Amino acid sequence: MDVNEFRVRGKEMVDYICGYLDTLESRRVTPSVEPGYLRELLPTEAPHDPEDWDAIMADVESKIMPGVTHWQHPRFHAYFPSGNSFPSILGDMLGDAIGCIGFSWAASPACTELETIVLDWLGKAIGLPDEFLAFAQGSKGGGVIQFTIIQAFNAIEFEFEHPPHSPDFASSDFHLFGLLETHFGGKRFADDEEVETEVTEKTVKKFYAAGFDALTSASECVLVTMLAARAQAIRKQKQQHPFVEEGVLLSKLMAYCSKEAHSCVEKAAMICFVKLRILEPDEKCSLRGATIQQAMEEDEALGLIPFFVSTTLGTTSCCSFDNLREVGPVCRRFGVWLHVDGAYAGNAFICPELKPLLSGIEYADSFNTNPNKWLLVNFDCSTLWVRDKIRLTSALVVDPLYLQHGYSHAAIDYRHWGVPLSRRFRSLKLWFVIRNYGISGLQKYIRHHIRLAKRFETLVRKDKRFEVCNEVKGPCDELITRPRSPIVCKMIMKLKIRGHGPKRAVERLGLVCFRLKGTDELNQKLLSNINASGKIHMVPASVNEKYVIRFCAVVQNATEEQIDYAWDVITEFATELLDTHNL
Ligand code: PLP
Repeated sequence: MDVNEFRVRGKEMVDYICGYLDTLESRRVTPSVEPGYLRELLPTEAPHDPEDWDAIMADVESKIMPGVTHWQHPRFHAYFPSGNSFPSILGDMLGDAIGCIGFSWAASPACTELETIVLDWLGKAIGLPDEFLAFAQGSKGGGVIQFTIIQAFNAIEFEFEHPPHSPDFASSDFHLFGLLETHFGGKRFADDEEVETEVTEKTVKKFYAAGFDALTSASECVLVTMLAARAQAIRKQKQQHPFVEEGVLLSKLMAYCSKEAHSCVEKAAMICFVKLRILEPDEKCSLRGATIQQAMEEDEALGLIPFFVSTTLGTTSCCSFDNLREVGPVCRRFGVWLHVDGAYAGNAFICPELKPLLSGIEYADSFNTNPNKWLLVNFDCSTLWVRDKIRLTSALVVDPLYLQHGYSHAAIDYRHWGVPLSRRFRSLKLWFVIRNYGISGLQKYIRHHIRLAKRFETLVRKDKRFEVCNEVKGPCDELITRPRSPIVCKMIMKLKIRGHGPKRAVERLGLVCFRLKGTDELNQKLLSNINASGKIHMVPASVNEKYVIRFCAVVQNATEEQIDYAWDVITEFATELLDTHNL
């Protein structure tokens, strides 16, 4: 394809995209295909000769689209939103065309500088403390957009190839070796020992999972902060116990999260080869300070070293909030890195009336949110801020000559902020979205979704056959329907400071968890019947040990009619199900 054809095909593609999004409602929200459907439709060999563009696009419609789950469909209410907007699509188009690989400032200065600036914009809009902003007076922190890791190495083979104490045994190997030793109950291996025979299937799975995972976004934010906390903890321990091997120290490190935390915390712990203690939240699915304090005290008494806590603001199952104001001081007391995962809800803090939900952020060492979830930015765009960038990068810096440049001392090199070297020009789409909507436009969008969720919640509550399983209320409801002024926002902050805020400001944003009063099986059947119909799409979760159905306001311009339609479908299926069971 040359530039002239691209000019034509590019315009056709824009038309195709507009047509697709405009008529999405006429498609089934989920595909009705069986696994392997595409294999039957596509040739087994790649084409040897070039193919005509029209033929390729014809296959998109006839072969690909039938297998697509339409996340931008007005009747898609599953998971959390997958951000999508025209300015963002244009940003990605331009970024792809520029095609730079901005691993260092010199590799593409605008790519680095725009990212730093836009993350400061967003960090300020969210209400992060100044220490997290790159350009705030005296700040050591800053933000970064995270990206994909593909760690394609085989941990086990690596271990075998370079036995400890051999010249090839690199410092990073200590971690793998430490885990092996821990796994085998502290057994010490000689340089030439055949470890293979002793590796169980479980260990192999664990190692493979660690070695071969491909992560993106919020998961990666949790991973890199855990890596940084791990490096910091090992350094500290090494100072106190210089003759103890890193592998041994590593085997003592303990990370913590709540049962409600996203599974990415567990995955990060696997990759980091550290222990993870998963704690019980309270009845509102919130991790409390006393729980974490007790766990750390117990672990310290056993000779373990607490080093990292991952908290969540807006959990995946039910959008609950860990109690940062309680957990934060405990982390400070134990010298533990506090990470705050606000993958979904973090975006909402751009609304002044929701900022009380961020209360306690002053204790955090790092915070992440995904504009690609709830800020109209297309996947992938996951933003991470750290209080002290040196503490992050010192776990990740390697500096070969071919990547060095004359401005390293004066500029940010984002390759030190994550695992991969190469990075796309992601900040363009975030910049386009923030500029084109303005913070006020984005606030309007967030409030619109909250209002729709509230509408859905009201419908559920009116039907006595159902119950709502998370909280969708708070002082914000009132404020949302009235024009806000800075004075109103100040009042909320004051309430919070007096201690009334966090309780009253409980807000479950755009997610409603509900269930039929009855057994888990009944609710499973209800959801599977609804999803099989293809009329709307939702997913389940477990909240307080109960099977619940999650309903999320997802599409940018979702309407009240669409919410009402979804409720009609749900009640229709519920009536049918209850009738068949004579309930
Ligand atoms: N954290 C929370 C609270 C989430 O809800 C999710 C996904 O929904 C994640 C982390 C993982 O997000 P990602 O897919 O960006 O890794």
